Amino acid sequence: MTKWIITSVSQAEPTPHCANIDCERLWNPGSEEQWYCWKYDLWFHTACLEEHVVSKQEEYMVMMAEKYLQSPDISEIPQAIVEVALQPTAHGGSLHFAAGNMQIIKFAHGLCKSEAQNELITNHSWFIAHSLEDGDDNGGNNVGDGDVITDEDWRRFMEDEHGMKEEEQGNDRFEQLTVHGQMIFTCPSCNNAI
Ligand SMILES: [Zn+2]
Ligand SMILES: [Zn+2]
Repeated sequence: MTKWIITSVSQAEPTPHCANIDCERLWNPGSEEQWYCWKYDLWFHTACLEEHVVSKQEEYMVMMAEKYLQSPDISEIPQAIVEVALQPTAHGGSLHFAAGNMQIIKFAHGLCKSEAQNELITNHSWFIAHSLEDGDDNGGNNVGDGDVITDEDWRRFMEDEHGMKEEEQGNDRFEQLTVHGQMIFTCPSCNNAI
């Protein structure tokens, strides 16, 4: 599988097809998943992809960290953000729904930099409101005036930003920040894991 077409999908959503040149099928968002390549902005039916040698999502996260993050040391980034930012980008089917997780992942990419985290913690109304509460959390970063920002805080902040409700957490009838145990494929165009 070395043939592929570059198509830009950023201006039109949803994309009606698949970047595999041998595939003439449309994409049915209700029943079919497609995986996304960030490098070339391409979507593929999962049926048109081959499984990557790295099949574990955790290993994939480490590889993605090296490729996409300025700082390759993912241990410096809150785990809650890493989990969201470095999962496969997909849409369609019962796990990812038609809209998919691209906006969720893009937002988390922006949170991977510590400057971005500090900016939010200092200025965003969610964190300001949080710092007014009497925190009883454990662990996390010690920030500014002694507030402790935990992974759970980051998770709730991201959910809030995407309009996800706390009671929907873990309920797969609703979109989730992170989907675990996903397949990892090889992108036919760039040969990276996607
Ligand atoms: Zn296809
Ligand atoms: Zn690719």
